[in-house]
Amino acid sequence: MEILKIADLHAFIEEKEVIKGVNLTVNTNEIHAIMGPNGAGKTTFINVIMGNPKYKISSGDILFKGKSILNLSVSERARLGIFQSFQYPEEISGVTFMNFLKLAYEKVHPEKQMNVLEFGDMLLKTADSLKIDRDFLKRYVNLGFSGGERKKSEILQLNVLNPQIALLDETDSGLDIDALKVVSDGINHAAEMGMSVVLVTHYKRILDYVKPNFVHIFIDGQIIKTGGIEIAEELEKSGYEEVRL
Ligand code: ADP
Ligand code: MG
Repeated sequence: MEILKIADLHAFIEEKEVIKGVNLTVNTNEIHAIMGPNGAGKTTFINVIMGNPKYKISSGDILFKGKSILNLSVSERARLGIFQSFQYPEEISGVTFMNFLKLAYEKVHPEKQMNVLEFGDMLLKTADSLKIDRDFLKRYVNLGFSGGERKKSEILQLNVLNPQIALLDETDSGLDIDALKVVSDGINHAAEMGMSVVLVTHYKRILDYVKPNFVHIFIDGQIIKTGGIEIAEELEKSGYEEVRL
């Protein structure tokens, strides 16, 4: 089933065209990796799908299960089942991670309310299954989290909120190998539960653990090439300039 369809999308920030005609279709359960150099517009692309109002769409469409979502706000898109991770998550002091997750869950799933005990139980089970330390849940959101802990917190959030599609931006950056494994397992686990994933990454490394169905090369606001994992291998060897040819 088709979850997300991006049709000839053009988007601007501050008068500058950053997304220059992108097409992408993501079906249920598929993992799509998007790779590209710095400044190519990958983060912008993810923000535009989520509906960040900083960006202006000049033409094209974004369809979720066949319906345009261009007129929906970020939170309406989240309620439909679109999840975005943040490249630079913010600290929120005074809110424990557990409470933060409960609030987020209530916002995204208003129809599936759980009491504190039920929610806590589900949260502990999810944390355990992802090998994420339970103590983590009592800490304030992102306060003093290391880079790896922030990424783990995103993956826990992803598995608790259980969206239909996850847009993950540089989830692998700055991770040591153990954290990379936890994060990758969390993404694979989410995909096994039926989620679709768009994974933006700079390096091939995470693709040794998360197996994408498609790899897209994103350069200068466009997807210039699509294929399987072999494209990422080619890229590793020869760099973006060669792949473009
Ligand atoms: P990537 O994630 O591929 O590194 P970005 O989407 O962050 O690329 O950036 C794409 C282009 O858009 C860059 O040239 C960047 O300078 C520009 N850009 C991104 N955000 C802003 C902003 N808030 N204001 C002005 N230009 C921006
Ligand atoms: Mg980026």
